Amino acid sequence: MTVQTRAADQPMDDVVLGIHGGISPRRQDLSPEEDQAVRAVLTEALRAGKAKLDAGGSSLDAVEAAIRIMEDSPLLNAGKGAVFTCDGRNELDASIMEGTAKRAGAVAGVTVIRNPITAARAVMDKSPHVLLVGRGAEIFATQQGLDIVDPAYFWTEARWREIQRLWEAEKQGQGAAPAPDDADHKPQEYSTVGAVARDAEGRLAAGTSTGGRTGKAFGRIGDSPILGAGTYADDAAAAISCTGHGEYFIRLAVSHEIVAQMKYRGVSVGAAADDVIQRQLTAAGGKGAAIALDRAGRFVTSYNTEGLFRGAITKSGEATVRLFGD
Ligand code: ASP
Repeated sequence: MTVQTRAADQPMDDVVLGIHGGISPRRQDLSPEEDQAVRAVLTEALRAGKAKLDAGGSSLDAVEAAIRIMEDSPLLNAGKGAVFTCDGRNELDASIMEGTAKRAGAVAGVTVIRNPITAARAVMDKSPHVLLVGRGAEIFATQQGLDIVDPAYFWTEARWREIQRLWEAEKQGQGAAPAPDDADHKPQEYSTVGAVARDAEGRLAAGTSTGGRTGKAFGRIGDSPILGAGTYADDAAAAISCTGHGEYFIRLAVSHEIVAQMKYRGVSVGAAADDVIQRQLTAAGGKGAAIALDRAGRFVTSYNTEGLFRGAITKSGEATVRLFGD
């Protein structure tokens, strides 16, 4: 199989918050207006997370704040704007983790929680558990006083058109969900969101939130709420958030594998991320990306797709946002 790989970005130093908005479409599939709108949301998310850090908040606060902005944007596949399952519903997954005591929380398959990342944080802070799914997670979120919405809140025209195209293709016997490189590949089909942060005390945190994959089976859970797959943080190495074809990320334990390579092989965050994404994931036939921030403030991205919506902000407040391979 021929798999096209992309070079990773140059590492950035002195970063306090890095984010991704998932795999981007091919450049020609993104209109100038969409391009501008995505850049604006990513910039807003960076500023919101940085504001938390500037106010003395923790890396967890920064991750949660940045992800909430992206969840509330209909442009990205998390919270409002999530993709549809094969039976036309939105089922959301999210997780958050800190790298000092390795506390973590996650929710999966939720349908009425406006900000799944905040529910994941509540699982971490206010329950003895790590991962709650479905109705149990929703009852817990309600008891915690989180924002509960009608499932229709998550509906967007663009996502609805996507699932209809998929149903139409299936009716005509064309089979399963479009692969990342299909001509039909649009940003809405991927665009999971994530964040990694480092606070004044050097504590790392990571979080990821998603609607999953268009046309996924109901009840299917991807890598985003699975610690060690889509999200991981370890102050001794790095904070990681991933996006891509979740089944591969779960099987390769991508985010933990990056941390493990740093700790046990002694390689840099960039070398570890590239080994896992460019070599292991690519060899397995999986598509996707990881963002990673190490304890020294070095931020790297690695992806084997055409583009990745991503951004980072330094301690001094310099924000960078990129959508493609430039
Ligand atoms: N990783 C997510 C999932 O498989 C989807 C994505 O990142 O695009 O659920």
